[in-house]
Amino acid sequence: MGSMSQQQFENFTASSLYCEKCKTAMPVRERLLLVLPDKEIYDYLCTGCASSVGQREITAGEKVMAQKMAARRPRRSRPVQSIRL
Ligand SMILES: [Zn+2]
Repeated sequence: MGSMSQQQFENFTASSLYCEKCKTAMPVRERLLLVLPDKEIYDYLCTGCASSVGQREITAGEKVMAQKMAARRPRRSRPVQSIRL
């Protein structure tokens, strides 16, 4: 079953990954590493020691999907403060 690793790879987008240096799961920072015509490669850096803990490729198709998803839900960039009663 080759789909097992695929599944894990998707979970890999979680905000924390195991860091070998820190010996624990650490929050990671996403950094755009490389832009190719059909995909983008992101590097994940440990926020504790800044070492690379993983990489991820996002294909053009995935990106379009993500953009569609993002467009669907309204952004809440600003906190609504006038909601108080
Ligand atoms: Zn680390």
